[in-house]
Amino acid sequence: MADRMLQFVRVPQAMPDKRDAAARRGDFHEIYADFDVPRAREQSGRCSQCGVPFCQVHCPLGNNIPDWLKLTAEGRLEEAYEVSSATNTFPEICGRICPQDRLCEGNCVIEKGFDSVTIGAVERFITDTAFAQGWVQAPVPRAENGMSVGIVGAGPGGLAAAEQLRLKGYAVHVYDRHDRVGGLMIYGIPNFKLEKEVVLRRHRLFEQAGIVFHLGCEIGRDIGLDELRTRHDAVLLATGVYRARELGGPGAGLAGIVPALDYLIASNRTGLGDAVPEFDSGTLDAAGRDVVVIGGGDTAMDCVRTAIRQGAKSVRCLYRRDRANMPGSLREVKNAEEEGVEFVWLSAPEAFLGDDHVTGVRAVRMHLGLPDASGRQSVEPIEGSHFTIPATLVIKALGFDPEDLPATFAEPALAVSRWGTLKIDHRSFMTSIPGVFAAGDIVRGASLVVWAIRDGRDAAAQMHAWLQHTAAEDGRSSPL
Ligand code: FAD
Repeated sequence: MADRMLQFVRVPQAMPDKRDAAARRGDFHEIYADFDVPRAREQSGRCSQCGVPFCQVHCPLGNNIPDWLKLTAEGRLEEAYEVSSATNTFPEICGRICPQDRLCEGNCVIEKGFDSVTIGAVERFITDTAFAQGWVQAPVPRAENGMSVGIVGAGPGGLAAAEQLRLKGYAVHVYDRHDRVGGLMIYGIPNFKLEKEVVLRRHRLFEQAGIVFHLGCEIGRDIGLDELRTRHDAVLLATGVYRARELGGPGAGLAGIVPALDYLIASNRTGLGDAVPEFDSGTLDAAGRDVVVIGGGDTAMDCVRTAIRQGAKSVRCLYRRDRANMPGSLREVKNAEEEGVEFVWLSAPEAFLGDDHVTGVRAVRMHLGLPDASGRQSVEPIEGSHFTIPATLVIKALGFDPEDLPATFAEPALAVSRWGTLKIDHRSFMTSIPGVFAAGDIVRGASLVVWAIRDGRDAAAQMHAWLQHTAAEDGRSSPL
């Protein structure tokens, strides 16, 4: 092993080539190239194969990262793919959009002094190679087990569960109100982080495996949850969180102030070739406009970088805390700055100016106060520090809360937490309604793709255990 691994003392960290910022501003393509085989082997060989792999410990999926790095360093790519895909339904997607700096790479033991192994880039390379070589197979079961499950939501949580349950032989039906599969991976996250074809090729594999998708079908409107429960032996709710947090203050209702997800969906749909009247009319197009995005999370980063690519005149991100305390990935902030976004840290909007249409934002400087009970520093406005920024498009990216699911599904018995997320038994993943399970953002609150995958896979295992148990109790033969 010694000649292949532990190369971090000799080989510096290298990411795959990144397109220069000027080229990136002109299109929506991904910004990183793929590694080639020699570079992937060399970078994987930097792994120290440490005794306690903190990368794996800090991966929500517990991915066996040291093993697939070693296999890659040895050129055994098909085996590397097998190990990496054993714990992850979408390694090529996590390789692209996980905040590795806060998860695996941020906890890599060689990070202190030598810069971490580029785990995300290697993960992406392994799976893209597997697709190119035809090693990725549709999740076809060995035998049908005669039972069926209904899954509401075709985001990463619902899809991860669908894959696992199909492999066990269930007839799997996935319902989604959108017309495409992927949830926020298709309509939220822009192409420059995750090209749509990467999501669509998984959709094709799931269809080949016999998973049935009912698209454009909203549960609670087109079909009731009670109807789903009679159609299927068990139901999984993986509906995500979509109620946008609102801005207050004078002028908050002016034209030209739009919710982040409306803006991103319009851009993603346009890129997919759909007709989007609000984009064509200019309502949701940043071209030629002074754009102010309010917020500091992943959604805000996606909005500022989309606005740059649409040809905005200026793009500013207004965030009430500082760079060190923002929730979004620091790698994305760096990419945004390179592309021409201006960050206005420690600033919060107070009022929106204009008669009918917004023309500017009056903001106030903030300072960080003492930490609260959660350890997070409070923010206080600094008196007399007002300033005005020109803005003809304001995008609200303040986060998302759950929709009122008991009302949507007309199921008052569906228990929710005080935040509106679905309550589950954390061992069985079952909600307060027998046979109805839940996973992903609708349980956790707005989170990450990798956590949704983890929850979806765990929920699938628990649904299978419950279905085996109920079948045995009913005297039916239990599913495999
Ligand atoms: P979702 O992906 O939201 O999928 C839920 C699905 O349920 C949707 O398709 C929806 O249409 C459907 N649905 C809802 N209600 C119904 C109903 N009543 N009937 C039928 N269908 C219904 N995470 C990262 O890890 N990295 C990132 O870079 C990142 N960037 C992000 C950027 C943006 C703009 C946003 C908004 C989020 C981002 N996230 C990112 C978070 C990540 O996308 C989510 O945590 C993840 O998608 C949650 O998965 P999910 O399956 O729980 O829900």
